[in-house]
Amino acid sequence: MEITFEERLERLVEASLNGKDPGREELAWVLKLPDELTLALVSAVSRVRFAAFGRRVKLNLLLNIKSGLCPEDCHYCSQSRDSTAAISSYSMVEEDTFCAAAERARELGATRLCLVASGRGPTDREVAQVARGVEAVKAGDGALEICACLGLLSDGQADQLGKAGVYAYNHNLNTSESFYDAICDTHTFADRQETVERAREGGLSPCSGALFGMGESDADVLDAGYALKAIEPDSVPINFLIPIEGTPFAGVNQLTPQRCLRILAVFRLLFPRSEVRIAGGREVHLRSLQPLGLYLANSIFIGDYLTTKGQAAAADLAMIADAGLEIEGGGRLQKQDSKLAAVELKQGVLD
Ligand code: SF4
Repeated sequence: MEITFEERLERLVEASLNGKDPGREELAWVLKLPDELTLALVSAVSRVRFAAFGRRVKLNLLLNIKSGLCPEDCHYCSQSRDSTAAISSYSMVEEDTFCAAAERARELGATRLCLVASGRGPTDREVAQVARGVEAVKAGDGALEICACLGLLSDGQADQLGKAGVYAYNHNLNTSESFYDAICDTHTFADRQETVERAREGGLSPCSGALFGMGESDADVLDAGYALKAIEPDSVPINFLIPIEGTPFAGVNQLTPQRCLRILAVFRLLFPRSEVRIAGGREVHLRSLQPLGLYLANSIFIGDYLTTKGQAAAADLAMIADAGLEIEGGGRLQKQDSKLAAVELKQGVLD
């Protein structure tokens, strides 16, 4: 006897809640669901999100500590050697910029500060510079989680970062192994896997996710998901391509808000207890359906991305409050209502 849509979905959700692999074929079915079933999908899969994280939303703030002039050729990136995008380029920022960003993170209720540097990988001198910046931040606020994202790691660098107070290391696999050649020629999928492993071995919490909307197939989405599952990241950022003018992927736009939600649902089912973060492209691709994304993911970036603007922080805080959710760790608007965020947004108190 054929099972109904609701029964099939329920089976998937139960498997995920019980820590079992929902099955590749079932996740492929999720990716193919018609748009009109999106709400039913989000509603069902939100059970997995609420079971592990309750109403909490983790906020993360990005700081671009070194920008542009990268020798790599990641086709999606405005900082790559092939990009002609108008971005600012600068070498490693000073310690006071690290501390100012930490202060901003506290103001906004972010519990993690993500330090991102352009480049293939850090030199030992750059690792030492980051370590000094992190030590300065930790001296002022030991509780703020620091994640570093500095590219491919060499031996001993993760260890050095950990000693300085870095908690996590981000290095995304980005897509499937078989699609990797279509997005980058200067390093390999295996290089990326190796860096995530180095970070873990150095005692850092592995943060690794993906970027969708670059021309990948459903099979690539699933391959990327299972490759990530194999490396067991603690946090999984899901990016949606922002097709930046001046990059080889300018003009590529295959995503719809519903497609993004189906991808988020797949990742929530695959990672029932890991932090799933909606990262770059949230505003561009989910648009007015962003709050539905929060019923699947439990984490977002607040503020701007590396070289593109995010929506105003107050709009994010209002969205979280309107959705009946709360900021993890007690953010600024924890006990306030969304009206205050809306007023502050209008008055430009928060930007
Ligand atoms: S290595 Fe990083 S900064 Fe360089 S092109 Fe790739 S994504 Fe951009």
